Amino acid sequence: MQRLAISLLLAYSATAQSSVNAARVDRLLERAVVIDLHDDTPQMILDEGYNLGEKHDYGQVDIPRMRTGHVSGLFLSLWTDSDRYTPGESMHRALQLIDAVRREIARHPGDVEMATTSADILAARKRGRIAILMGLEGGYAIDSDLSVLRSFAELGVRYVTLTHTNHTPWADSASLAGTHNGLTDFGRQVVREMNRLGMMVDISHVSDKTFLDALETSSAPLIASHSSSRALANAPRNMTDDMLRALAAKGGVVHINYYEGFLDNGFAEREKVLKAEQAEQNAIDDRTPKFGDRSQNGPAVRKINARRIAKLGRLPLSRLLDHFEHAVKVAGVDHVGLGSDFDGADDLFPEGMEDISKTPNLVRGLMERGFSDEDILKILGGNTLRVMREVEQVSRRLKAEAGANR
Ligand SMILES: [Zn+2]
Repeated sequence: MQRLAISLLLAYSATAQSSVNAARVDRLLERAVVIDLHDDTPQMILDEGYNLGEKHDYGQVDIPRMRTGHVSGLFLSLWTDSDRYTPGESMHRALQLIDAVRREIARHPGDVEMATTSADILAARKRGRIAILMGLEGGYAIDSDLSVLRSFAELGVRYVTLTHTNHTPWADSASLAGTHNGLTDFGRQVVREMNRLGMMVDISHVSDKTFLDALETSSAPLIASHSSSRALANAPRNMTDDMLRALAAKGGVVHINYYEGFLDNGFAEREKVLKAEQAEQNAIDDRTPKFGDRSQNGPAVRKINARRIAKLGRLPLSRLLDHFEHAVKVAGVDHVGLGSDFDGADDLFPEGMEDISKTPNLVRGLMERGFSDEDILKILGGNTLRVMREVEQVSRRLKAEAGANR
């Protein structure tokens, strides 16, 4: 009898968990253009020969898992470590990452194709392929030279995150005390040149003042490629409610970061205590050459990450949904998108969102919170397509004006 009661209870909680009709999730995903703005997979492709075509039991992104996650477009992030690489070395490494991405795309012509515009993403989707785009994470890789910025644009880079965790010579990061009080005059030139080139200005990682300066300078909407809400988790690189409102007022989109340390204060505190893991990772990074054979770094770091997960556990998916709900409440449903940070956050992602195949869980979660299908379609990628179109329009206008003035 007791057994029956328990099994009834289990059956009840199972239906309670899936109070949303599975067919509704499937129908929505068939229609959706799912675009993730921030994935750090290029380092694995370059350093370890990571094959996007195979399904892996490590990392978060590959073609089979993107297919399961109904992904239409993915921005691969070109990140270089500003603690270890000089700006010139960062430029070199970024070029290696671009080459690795382009060669990997060429290896899988039936599944992925290079894209640089909103129209390219939709065209790839029509052909049944996933659009791969590129974003440069950390403006120091342009080596304070607009000609380098233009060359990155020519190679297909479609956003630049103005800083990473260090200041550039022209922009302050959120991770350190300010030195430039935001953007320098040259920093403003970088933003204007990005507007002209049709590159999105990404304010994830920048200081609050750099954000305000970029917002004031840019003639196109800004994006945060991977940022969460500071009202819910007090990381300095998360966005305050005022920033969310200001970003939205100029048509921008905040793409929510899934990394648990940016979702929850308690998690961030517990992670900080794991000093042995951090020291070990630093030692591995220190003995890995900047160029040449770096193949041992990734596997060694993933072992440490497994220990981190064993010690920290995972946050429930609901914590990530809280961030989506908050950003929609403050910025509006037209200004929120996906910025997972997969392959860039020590494998620390919430339960049910462990890799890029898990989009259905996100969709179901948003439905359970009462979001309409149309609103979820906007969050999954509709808003990103819209902001890309606006950035492309501004670029066309600025180029036409420059032509008329010549
Ligand atoms: Zn980042």
